[in-house]
Amino acid sequence: MRQIAYQRAGSVDEAVQAAAQPEAAFLAGGTSLVDLMKLEVLNPARVVDVTRLDLSRIEPRADGIRLGATATNSAVAAHPEVKRRFPALSQALLSGASPQLRNVATVAGNLMQRTRCAYYRDLATRCNKRSPGAGCDAIEGWTRMHAILGGSEQCIALHPSDMCVALAALEATIHVRGQRGERDIPFGDFHLLPGDHPEREFALEPGELVTWVFVPATAAAARSRYVKVRDRISYAFALASCATALEVANGRIRVARMALGGVGTKPWRSLEAERMLVGATPRAETFRRAADVALRDARPRRDNAFKVELAKRTMIRALTLSAEGA
Ligand code: SF4
Repeated sequence: MRQIAYQRAGSVDEAVQAAAQPEAAFLAGGTSLVDLMKLEVLNPARVVDVTRLDLSRIEPRADGIRLGATATNSAVAAHPEVKRRFPALSQALLSGASPQLRNVATVAGNLMQRTRCAYYRDLATRCNKRSPGAGCDAIEGWTRMHAILGGSEQCIALHPSDMCVALAALEATIHVRGQRGERDIPFGDFHLLPGDHPEREFALEPGELVTWVFVPATAAAARSRYVKVRDRISYAFALASCATALEVANGRIRVARMALGGVGTKPWRSLEAERMLVGATPRAETFRRAADVALRDARPRRDNAFKVELAKRTMIRALTLSAEGA
């Protein structure tokens, strides 16, 4: 039997100090970590429980909203200010997991949830993310649920979160506290591409704790939308999804933000597609051209070529809804 040290942190400083020890992991809702510990995919020597810290507040401000790291996915999705000013975020959260999971899963846990790659979760297979340098059985294996954007020869694991796709499009910022103080990480820099080191997933120093996420309020954010396509209507990961935020004035797109889910090794933003949209008339042909650009570098594998067109259509649908403000 493996010994696991358990420590309940009484303050943020205490949590950061405890997590600076080797092989430590923070525990909040536990919906991902405990699952992977049972499978022996993650084997922390120390678990630092942060559920009692004062980090669960949701604080609307004039310039945006601050989401505490341990605010539950349910609480964020149901918050009236989130629904009114950041509808894509509420929609994305409600499209993920089940009500039971959303009631305990947290903002920071969602940010740091691990891939659902079946090979990653199966100790009988080779996986570079689980065991660096071991190889990747997914690349020549069953790839229907793998990434078509952002992969490398070492890993093609899909990023699973819905919430993160919305936060990418809304240009959120992640606030963290570590041994060397506090800092903000722009959302687009938080998740790392696999490259040659798929075991490195987040731009965090050892022991750094996510304390809150800030989402800026904009006119585009208030018209944001999230569209998710999946195998069944509930409790399924995205085959393709898209969060969009558009501001339209005098019949032209003034601001465009978009991010794709279900297709990338991280929440996938195409700045080129966003630039194309600015100044254009919001109509189907414009959206199709932007979608073609966003998926131009897609590299499908044996079982997931269908995702290229599916992601384009999902993006067109989300852009159409954002433009209509529907
Ligand atoms: Fe592991 Fe990534 Fe390969 Fe999946 S795709 S088996 S997570 S290395």
